[in-house]
Order: sequence, then C-alpha cells, then structure tokens
Amino acid sequence: MTSATQEVTARVLDVLVLPGLDDLTDDQVRGADCVWCRASLTADVAVDFGEHTSPSPWSTSTIGMRWYPRACPACTAERAHRGLFEHAPSCEQCVDAAERCEISRALYRLIREGRR
Ligand SMILES: [Zn+2]
Ligand SMILES: [Zn+2]
Repeated sequence: MTSATQEVTARVLDVLVLPGLDDLTDDQVRGADCVWCRASLTADVAVDFGEHTSPSPWSTSTIGMRWYPRACPACTAERAHRGLFEHAPSCEQCVDAAERCEISRALYRLIREGRR
C-alpha cells in the first residue's frame, strides 16, 4: 500500500470514537484538518473515514449534516491503540483468535501506518 488513505469500516470507527460534530471546526467537518488534533492534512497522509451523515451516535443538534472526517496517521494510531485495548477483552473472536478478527486487524494496520 502506498498511502495511509483508506476506508475504515463503521465498526472500526465505533472503536476509534470520532468527536461530536458540535465540537468541530468547519475545516474539520470537510476533512481539511485532523478531527482530533486539528492539524492540516494533505491527501497523501490523511486517513480517510469516508462520508458520514449526522446524526452520528455522537451528536443530536446537527441532524442530516454531511461531514467527511479525516485524521492524521499519528492520531489515528493512538486512537486505534487505545481502542484495541478496550475491544479485545470484550470480543469473543479476539479472545479466541485475534488474527481472525477483522476489527482487530484493521486497528493493527492503522497503528502500523501511524508509526511509519
Ligand atoms: Zn491528528
Ligand atoms: Zn475482535
């Protein structure tokens, strides 16, 4: 893979926990800045979470609003690392055989890409 830009499944996003739309700047909503640290992003380093329509589980006052969350690889790796610790103990597949859990594999990939 040549780019950190990729689609991440909704279930992985649940683990990463995106911030509420209410707390974001316009630049964060349109994907120009990292949703977590507000750093400016360029297309080749951003992790792309795809298009979302509010309400997300995180917000109620911005119903129907479209947004395009993106993040820098470092923030994503940090979130993924934290999320993995919370996900693994409560996931039957991970307890059984973590290498076969798609969520866990996706999180590991995000952590690796953030550390390049
Ligand atoms: Zn960031
Ligand atoms: Zn799992």
